[in-house]
Amino acid sequence: MRRSFVAGNWKMYKTAAEARLLLSELLPGLVSIKGVEIVLCPPFTSILPVASLVEGTEIGVGAQNMHWEASGAFTGEVAPPMLAEFCKYVILGHSERRGYFGETDENVNRKVKSALAHGLVPILCVGETLTENEAGVTRDVVIRQTQAGLSGVDTRAIASVVIAYEPVWAIGTGRAATAEGANAVIAGMIRAWLASTYGDEAAQSVRILYGGSVKASNAGEFFQYPDIDGALVGGASLKATEFIPIVKAAAR
Ligand code: PEP
Repeated sequence: MRRSFVAGNWKMYKTAAEARLLLSELLPGLVSIKGVEIVLCPPFTSILPVASLVEGTEIGVGAQNMHWEASGAFTGEVAPPMLAEFCKYVILGHSERRGYFGETDENVNRKVKSALAHGLVPILCVGETLTENEAGVTRDVVIRQTQAGLSGVDTRAIASVVIAYEPVWAIGTGRAATAEGANAVIAGMIRAWLASTYGDEAAQSVRILYGGSVKASNAGEFFQYPDIDGALVGGASLKATEFIPIVKAAAR
C-alpha cells in the first residue's frame, strides 16, 4: 500500500520571515493529519527556518532544485550534501526549470541519480506543453522524460523515487487537468511504463502525483483514483486555507 504524498512547491515566494508566518498558520492544521506524507519545499534561504519549525513533527522539507555534484567550483549552485543536512526531498526537472533555465533530460537524470546517492528522495517532474498536448504527443513526451530521468536507476532504488505528472499547461493557469485525464497519464502511461521496465511489483511501489492548479475545491477528485497517490501543489501551497484541506483530502 503506497502512502499518500502531498508536497507544496513554494517556488520563489516567501522570505525567511514570511516563511515563519506561513508555518504558524500551516502547522496547527497539518500536524494532526495522519495517513499522508507532507512535504514543504521552500526556496533555499527558507529551508533552514522551515526545517527547524517542523522539527519534532512528521512534516518533511524539500528543496526545489540542486546541482548533481557533491561539491566544486559551481558558483551559485547548491550541492546534495548541503541539502541533506536539512532536507529529505528535492524537486527535480520542474517545468519552470526546464523551460526558463534550459534544464535537459540529461541533467535531470544526473540530479536524480545524485539525489538517490545522497539519500534524498527525488520528486521527478514530467509533463507535456499545451502544443505537445494538442499535437497528441503527450505519451511520447511523458515517457521520454520519465525514461530519461530514471536512466540508470535500478529496480532496488525505484521505490525511493516520487514522480509528479505536471502538464505544463495546467501549472499556475487555474486550468487543471481533469482527474480522468490525469489518471489516464499516471496509470495508463507512467505506471504502465514503470511496470514494463521494472516489473509490476516495483511499479506498484512508486508514488505518482498529479500537479497543476490543484486547489482545495478540486483535490478530492484526483485522489479518488487509486493510481494518483497525491499532489504537487504550487500556488495553493502558499495559503493555509487551501493547503490544509488538500492534505486532508489526500489522507488514506
Ligand atoms: C507547481 O509549481 O508544481 C504547480 C503545480 O503549480 P500550481 O499548483 O500553482 O499550478
